[in-house]
Amino acid sequence: MPLYEFRCNACGSFDRSFPMSTVPDSLACPRCALTAARRPGGSPGPGSSPITRAVEATQRTAHEPGVVRQPPSRADHRISRDPRHSRLPRP
Ligand SMILES: [Zn+2]
Repeated sequence: MPLYEFRCNACGSFDRSFPMSTVPDSLACPRCALTAARRPGGSPGPGSSPITRAVEATQRTAHEPGVVRQPPSRADHRISRDPRHSRLPRP
């Protein structure tokens, strides 16, 4: 059964699994019993799609930018680490 994410305004989100045909739009929160609405799209658990992860990372860095101590070194930008490739003619 797929996992669906529900969000309680007081306690945060929690996951419950339901058969796809019977998943409710809202559920009583297991902690405070208030109504918790299902998150749109029904994220399939922590290993969600690359698009979901990219959107969440973008939202996170809007408030807490990722800090780097130094720019990435030039060597990291090279596609190949084979020393013979550096002798090949460049366009
Ligand atoms: Zn709650």
